[in-house]
Amino acid sequence: ELEGNKDQPDCISSVIPGWFSEISPMWPGEAHSLKVEKILFQGKSDYQNVMVFQSSTYGKVLVLDGVIQLTERDECAYQEMITHLPLCSIPNPKKVLVIGGGDGGVLREISRHSSVEQIDMCEIDKMVVNVSKQYFPDIAVGYEDPRVNLHIGDGVAFLKAAPAGSYDAIIVDSSDPIGPAQELFEKPFFESVSKALRPGGVVCTQAESIWLHMHIIEHIMANCRQIFKGSVNYAWTTVPTYPSGVIGFMLCSTEGPPVDFKHPVNPIDANDAYNKSKGPLKFYNSEIHTAAFCLPSFAKKVIESK
Ligand code: SAM
Repeated sequence: ELEGNKDQPDCISSVIPGWFSEISPMWPGEAHSLKVEKILFQGKSDYQNVMVFQSSTYGKVLVLDGVIQLTERDECAYQEMITHLPLCSIPNPKKVLVIGGGDGGVLREISRHSSVEQIDMCEIDKMVVNVSKQYFPDIAVGYEDPRVNLHIGDGVAFLKAAPAGSYDAIIVDSSDPIGPAQELFEKPFFESVSKALRPGGVVCTQAESIWLHMHIIEHIMANCRQIFKGSVNYAWTTVPTYPSGVIGFMLCSTEGPPVDFKHPVNPIDANDAYNKSKGPLKFYNSEIHTAAFCLPSFAKKVIESK
């Protein structure tokens, strides 16, 4: 059973009474706010503060260490893109690994792919998994897929121990690089990712916002260009409740059969019967896949120079 403290809603009322305001040194001078109807859960795990509240316009909201991870209204824009950008870029993905992603949304999206035989997941925080199963059943539905093997532990250690050349795709659905996810943005982690992928295998990692974190993106880009000898690309999507309203992804492939991320070879059909059990795709389609790689000039200049 989950235990939390509903009496001490931190981060509520600090800007507007009765609203949640997302205040962080990662986006100084701004704080997106959502009106709170009710706090549903507050707890402290071994790794982070976990909170769930009912917002008045975005459904339920999951917050870790004061930072919004998802809302029921716009989670599709993130989960569908971080999953289908890599999986639709290679033919017949069979073995997929997820690092982070405790809410289960990425699992839900991977499970739409009938070619997939095995889905391993390594999430550090069991409380995130349990809270999601209790408060976000339409997202945590991903855990019901029999192809899923859940490991609770540090993704960095998990990948170090993973057999070389074993995955077709790795999806890194992490929180921001402050707290337990810090190492998931560092070079040794990307080296383990590259080793665990088969030749021509693909990785997609959460890679922050072009409006706020160009320095982090430059750093990740420079590391990835050294490590991934196939292709290295940056794509992005809109998520209204993420800081600055956008979030990006690094998409890389290892040396081997070439991967052209901009032209998906494994399209997913929103209407096929396999998808109906998870509800329809709400955001992803082949046109938005290709468009996601078009960058505004200011970002293109920096990203392509790396
Ligand atoms: N899927 C979400 C969305 O729609 O935006 C948000 C991100 S998900 C909740 C991020 C997860 O990464 C968290 O559950 C966090 O516990 C997990 N995480 C952070 N550091 C980790 C690590 N080192 N190894 C494994 N999981 C980690």
